[in-house]
Amino acid sequence: MTQIRAAVCREGSTQFSIEDAQLDAPRAGEVLVRIVGAGVCHTDMAVRDRQLPVPLPVVLGHEGSGVVEAVGDGVTSVSPGDAVVLSFASCGTCPNCADHAPAYCYNFGPYNFASARADGSVAISTAQGPVHSHFFGQSSFATHAIASERNVVKVPTSAAHVPLERLGPLGCGLQTGAGAVLNSMAVKAGRSLVVFGAGAVGLSAIMAGRIAGADPIIAIDLHENRLALAREIGATHTIKGDADLASALHDICPTGINYAFDTTGLGKLIELAFNQLAPRGILGLVGASDADAMLHFNETSLMGGGKRVMGILEGDSDPQAFIPQLIEHHVAGRYPFDRLVEMFAFDDINAAFEASESGRVIKPVLKVSAA
Ligand SMILES: [Zn+2]
Ligand SMILES: [Zn+2]
Repeated sequence: MTQIRAAVCREGSTQFSIEDAQLDAPRAGEVLVRIVGAGVCHTDMAVRDRQLPVPLPVVLGHEGSGVVEAVGDGVTSVSPGDAVVLSFASCGTCPNCADHAPAYCYNFGPYNFASARADGSVAISTAQGPVHSHFFGQSSFATHAIASERNVVKVPTSAAHVPLERLGPLGCGLQTGAGAVLNSMAVKAGRSLVVFGAGAVGLSAIMAGRIAGADPIIAIDLHENRLALAREIGATHTIKGDADLASALHDICPTGINYAFDTTGLGKLIELAFNQLAPRGILGLVGASDADAMLHFNETSLMGGGKRVMGILEGDSDPQAFIPQLIEHHVAGRYPFDRLVEMFAFDDINAAFEASESGRVIKPVLKVSAA
């Protein structure tokens, strides 16, 4: 057992309360991580606001980074003292995990949202009783977390000088945007990339677009401060979201868009993006929509243009391979994701969520302990 402090999400409250708790020792295949940093992502908000069915009380947090303190039986790839980034969980045995596509694990739901071990047990308890753990295989809004060997990714030694608390968001939001460009759509140099929405995911896609050599790179957002940042980190053009987007895009890309990436989940924008695609253009979708949302495309245009519309989770990343690549890009100065990050003290977790919701901060990260 480890004594921890954890931000608990309880029934009847939309604020987190930081509580003293106890965390189990790691079981077979599990890894105990002292959390150094933890990013705030929209999925945490959706659970806090009961838009996603996760059992309560629960400790959320799914963009953790930290230092391994102990490992359970059978764990060989990490050992105590290793710096790690925590990513999403997957089963490791289904057909998609076998194909190195763990984002589409057949068991993604239970492994990431059930917030318990496969046998139903939870790892956290307080004086008030058990608390759900293992959210996204980590529950990293706490001083310590139990993860599994599959979802802890060792930080390369070349990044030993990078502040460890900064790296957590690579485990979800940032790998989603960068992976969509580099893995899912496999953007080619010299082709146009349009990104709808310049939040953390969209800005990560823009930085990755620059790595891929896309040109032009066009960012669309309602907020001028985000467009300004987009220009600094890779966008060659920006369009204010309330403009006539179809004609503005046509002016920049008269023969159509090669790659369109939507982070907004807004049907009208997605359909507009589809209608601007060049022949063989690809439209990638990561934005969350209402559960019953439908899209309308013209079949002749889809088929006749050889166009593709693809849903994307976690940027099609295999975290064990892709997160170290992103860290290398960061160390080399090609992927300055720290420009998106603002640090908050762990005790200020509710303020960090507010700063994200108001749009003031693109990627709040909680500094939980010293590296
Ligand atoms: Zn699987
Ligand atoms: Zn996330």
